[in-house]
Amino acid sequence: MYADIAVCLPLVRTFVYKLNGDAEVGCRVIVPFRKREVEGFVVRLRKDAPRDMEVHEISSVVDASPLIRPDIFELCRWIADYYVSPTGEVLKAALPPGITAKHVERPRPSPAASRPPLPLGEAGRAKREPDRAKPQERPVEGSGRLKPTVDQLRSLERIVSPAGFHPVLLHGVTGSGKTEIYMQAAAHFLAAGKTSLILVPEIGLTPQLTDRFAARFPNQTAILHSSLTRPQRIDDWLRVYRGEVPIVIGTRSAVFAPLKDLGLIVVDEEHETSYKQEEVPRYHARDTAVMRAKLARAAIVLGSATPSMESFQNAESKKYAYIGLTARVEDRALPAVEIVNMREEYAAEGKQVVFARRLLQAISARLERSEQTMILLNRRGYAAFLLCRHCGFTFQCNACSVAMTYHRSIEKLLCHYCGLARRPPERCPECDSEYIHYVGEGTERLEAELKHLFADARVGRIDRDTMRHMRDYERVLGGFRAGDIDILVGTQMIAKGHDFPRVTLVGVVGADAPLALPDFRAAERTFQLLTQVAGRSGRGDRPGEVVIQSYFPDHYTFQLAITQRFEDFFARESRYRKAMFYPPFTALAGIMVSDRNAVRASNMAREVGEFLESLRSNAIRILGPAPAPLERIKRLHRHQLLIKSSSRSTLHHLLDRLRQHIEERKIGATRVIIDVDPVSLL
Ligand code: ADP
Ligand code: ZN
Ligand code: ZN
Repeated sequence: MYADIAVCLPLVRTFVYKLNGDAEVGCRVIVPFRKREVEGFVVRLRKDAPRDMEVHEISSVVDASPLIRPDIFELCRWIADYYVSPTGEVLKAALPPGITAKHVERPRPSPAASRPPLPLGEAGRAKREPDRAKPQERPVEGSGRLKPTVDQLRSLERIVSPAGFHPVLLHGVTGSGKTEIYMQAAAHFLAAGKTSLILVPEIGLTPQLTDRFAARFPNQTAILHSSLTRPQRIDDWLRVYRGEVPIVIGTRSAVFAPLKDLGLIVVDEEHETSYKQEEVPRYHARDTAVMRAKLARAAIVLGSATPSMESFQNAESKKYAYIGLTARVEDRALPAVEIVNMREEYAAEGKQVVFARRLLQAISARLERSEQTMILLNRRGYAAFLLCRHCGFTFQCNACSVAMTYHRSIEKLLCHYCGLARRPPERCPECDSEYIHYVGEGTERLEAELKHLFADARVGRIDRDTMRHMRDYERVLGGFRAGDIDILVGTQMIAKGHDFPRVTLVGVVGADAPLALPDFRAAERTFQLLTQVAGRSGRGDRPGEVVIQSYFPDHYTFQLAITQRFEDFFARESRYRKAMFYPPFTALAGIMVSDRNAVRASNMAREVGEFLESLRSNAIRILGPAPAPLERIKRLHRHQLLIKSSSRSTLHHLLDRLRQHIEERKIGATRVIIDVDPVSLL
């Protein structure tokens, strides 16, 4: 017997080995490979080896029976194809690290719940562990099932009994009852003996959804994410694999959760960029989830208050069914949004100010009425960068082509890309002038200003500097919910699904900054962030207000954020995307060439460009090679190409050829990354 092996290396092609003994497709093996022993997966069994080829023997079979079930195997093959990724690396990503066949054969007692504090930004909650007791009898649903509204009933019917395979885009404003719909849909499938997979962008930042599921379905919910220790991850994975829990909530990689009899997949906040894996394999968990549902004939619902352009276009073209929920439960009003022109503020005050008068008035009024305020600024630190007023010198990181951010509490300049820290200078290193100016405010500065302006107010701050662990985050949010904090300042971390009934004002500072990024999705991201953060205001019985500070108040993103009507934004943004041949109207791939050596990087980028040009057809447009917007990160010089195509199959053909070329060419230290449907273009 022989087997085609996909090795766990950045190689797309497979290799033939001789198999002595038993192994099925999906089993892991160890094989000799270029004077080393490497891990690989059996992807095909065959009786003969190709002639004229030296064939080595498989050293050992790791799994007697495959841990990857046939359905997940098929999904991985799709990912490998679609994302032009090595099958071995995809299969490896589908399993928790460190798992072996022994874990599956010999059930271990679950370890006691003594987990270390979770770092923030990864997923996870240390406090509320899923119950590890034996699963209860089905169908049993926990307390608190609400009587569905007419809209919710209508949505449920569409989700649970689709005509054929038909993903549902559930477009509902924040507070319109989407989470309740997910739970009732899961309950429906649970009653039918089927399992449900709920994907969330980050467990830690969407605690309410997790808590509500855990409370509604006690003992039946497992939470899968990547910041647990290896044994804990393996343990949770095994509970799912053995069919002990019918509902899985998890982040990106949970799309591979080994649930059997899958009835439902939910992708909450489907527009979130964290669903895209930014390392190999570069899959998008939302799109992978759609494929998984298709293979499993399961229902799938993508939920968002601000859908991605891609999903909305799929609804427009009837590929997805569309359900709009336009009213909040109990008809709570959407907040009133106002844009303040910061150029007028400048003219009136004679200098640049952090807060507009209008926003300060609004904060004062909240403090008088004992209501709460949230202020969003999507930049941490004190000042964005240091500028010499005399010669114009700015402080750049040594390893990255970005300005270093000033953090006052630690008296350091930090690089937000590589973490490099250095002492801020007293004099300019170029011209020795002492006129060093701190430009552009961050959340640290906002907090200081607010404490200064409102001496009696209690001000809290949430960003990655103040929040080292989930428990810090929960402490501050808990304090805010309990009313111990009047004004909460934060980065986009505060924009997510929290429900604080006493917040009646949201201020957005520095709203223009993301629009300046050289990324075709800049307007979409800005609109999403504004809508999300606006949704934090007026969740209780008092109406909410939103004040956005901008130097370009006429930009369509801000004008359309006033009404928060996504359809209008979609129509306006579509014109631009169509004119510029960008997704969702074109298939896009990015090629990033990087090397520590600048010459090697640009030479290889040119070679890739020439290779692509040689294969070019009418359906293809190639941009670049050009230095990436962030030309250098962590000492790597980066060059970028973008490939746009009106035909996805033509694009894939081209990428396959490129991949092959790179593997045959053996390019040494230079890295060439192919990114299909890229999310980050910096
Ligand atoms: P979303 O997920 O769209 O933000 P939620 O499901 O969180 O909306 O619902 C918003 C609020 O309305 C929550 O407090 C929820 O408990 C409540 N709610 C949802 N559905 C109902 C219902 N059918 N009856 C009463 N209250 C509901
Ligand atoms: Zn200078
Ligand atoms: Zn750096």
